[in-house]
Amino acid sequence: MKEHNHCQYDVTIVGSGPSGTVLAYELAQQGCKVLIIEKNKLPRSKVCAGGITVRASLLLPFDFSQIVEDVIYGARLSYNFKLKKTRIYDKPLAYTVMREKFDYHLVSRACEAGVTLVEGVEARHIDVDRDRVLVRTKSDTFSSSVLVGADGSNSVVVQSLGLKQGFEYGLALNSHISLDKDKALEWDGLLGLDLGIPGGYAWVFPKQDCLSVGAGGSFRVARRLKPSVTRLIQAYNLGSVDPRLIRGHLMPLRRAKTPLSHPRVLLVGDAAGLIDPLSGEGIYYALKSSYLASGAIMRFIKGEAADLRDYEAAVDNELMPDLKAARTIQKINSAAPYLFSHLLNENDRVWRAFCRLLRGEKTYVDIKNFLSPPLRLIFRYF
Ligand SMILES: Cc1cc2nc3c(=O)[nH]c(=O)nc-3n(C[C@H](O)[C@H](O)[C@H](O)COP(=O)(O)OP(=O)(O)OC[C@H]3O[C@@H](n4cnc5c(N)ncnc54)[C@H](O)[C@@H]3O)c2cc1C
Repeated sequence: MKEHNHCQYDVTIVGSGPSGTVLAYELAQQGCKVLIIEKNKLPRSKVCAGGITVRASLLLPFDFSQIVEDVIYGARLSYNFKLKKTRIYDKPLAYTVMREKFDYHLVSRACEAGVTLVEGVEARHIDVDRDRVLVRTKSDTFSSSVLVGADGSNSVVVQSLGLKQGFEYGLALNSHISLDKDKALEWDGLLGLDLGIPGGYAWVFPKQDCLSVGAGGSFRVARRLKPSVTRLIQAYNLGSVDPRLIRGHLMPLRRAKTPLSHPRVLLVGDAAGLIDPLSGEGIYYALKSSYLASGAIMRFIKGEAADLRDYEAAVDNELMPDLKAARTIQKINSAAPYLFSHLLNENDRVWRAFCRLLRGEKTYVDIKNFLSPPLRLIFRYF
C-alpha cells in the first residue's frame, strides 16, 4: 500500500458535493494545499430535486448562471393533489439545476483554484495521529494535517470516528420526467408543492426538458412518499414514471450538541446532518457549514486555535437555532397539515414570509418571533 507523502496536503476533504467543493475552493483561495477524494468518477449523478434557493445562491463564490435550468418565481399549491392556488412573487425565489452539472461546475472551479482532485477512489477508513490524519483507500493512504468529512449522508468519516450519536433521519425520493416543449412551458418559473403529507410534502421542480417530481418527510410518513409521487404525476397529467426510477435517499438531521469535530477532523453538509427538516433543503446549510469550517481550519493551521472544536460552537450558535425553529414548524405541520397549507394559500403575510425565507431575507427564527404570542406558545410545546 502506497503512502502519499507525509502531510503533503494541509487539508484532505472526503467528498466532492457542494459542501466539499466550496470549502476546498475557499481554503485554496487562502493558500492551503487541498486534496479532494471522491469515490465516483465525475460528473456523477445525485438523487436531488436540484433546487438552489436564492439564499443558497448568494453563498456561492462564483457565477453558475450558465447551468441554471429555470428561475422560480412562484408555486402551484395543492393539498392532497387538488390544486388550491397558484402564487407568484415579484422576485426570484430559487433556481433549478441538474445536480450532476451543478456539482461538476463547483468541483471544476475548485480545481481551477489549485485544489487536487482524486476521483473514482473511495475513502474506506480514517486514522487520527497526534499530528496528522490518514485516509485509507483500497490502494493508497493519504496524509494531511486536517481532514473534512463532506461525504454525505452515509459518511465513512462519521462511521470511522464514531461521531454518529444524536442524528435522526428523514427520507426523500425523486424522479425525472421528460416533457414535450408545450407541457414544459406550463411549468416555466413555477414549483409544484403538495402540502397534504403531514410533516412533509411532494414537489414538482421544472428543468429545461424535464421535471423533477418527488416527495420527502420524516420516517413516520415514509410509506406515503412513493404513492404521493405517482399521484402528483397523475394529478398534473404529466405522463407516467417507472416506480423503479423513483430514487430515494436518507436525510440525516442533527440535534444541537451532537459532536461534529475531533481535534483534527470536522464534518460539513449532510455528513454533519445539516438539512432543513421542514423543506429538506441541504445545499444552503452545506455551504454555510463550509464557510464556518473554513474559518476554523484556517485558525488551526495558522496556530491561532489548538484544535477545530470552535467549529462546533459556531454551528450551534449560527445554524442550529434556525434548524430548531424549522423543526418546530415541521412538527406543527405534522400535526396540522391543513392549517399549514391553508395559511400558505390564503394568508399573504405567510406567503411573503415564506418567499423572503427562500430569498435569505428572513430566517425561521424571524418567522417564529414574528408570530403572534398565542402562536408563539406553540413553539414551546413542540
Ligand atoms: C430526494 C432529495 C431531494 C433533495 N432536493 C434538494 C433540493 O432541491 N435543494 C437542496 O438544497 N437540497 C436538496 N436535497 C439535499 C441535498 O441533496 C444535500 O443536502 C446536499 O447534496 C448536501 O451536500 P454535501 O456536499 O454535504 O453532500 P453530497 O452532495 O451528498 O456529496 C457527498 C459526496 O461524497 C462522496 N462520497 C461519499 N462517500 C465517500 C467515500 N467513502 N469516499 C469518497 N467520496 C465519498 C459522494 O460520492 C458525493 O459526491 C435533497 C435530498 C434528497 C435525498
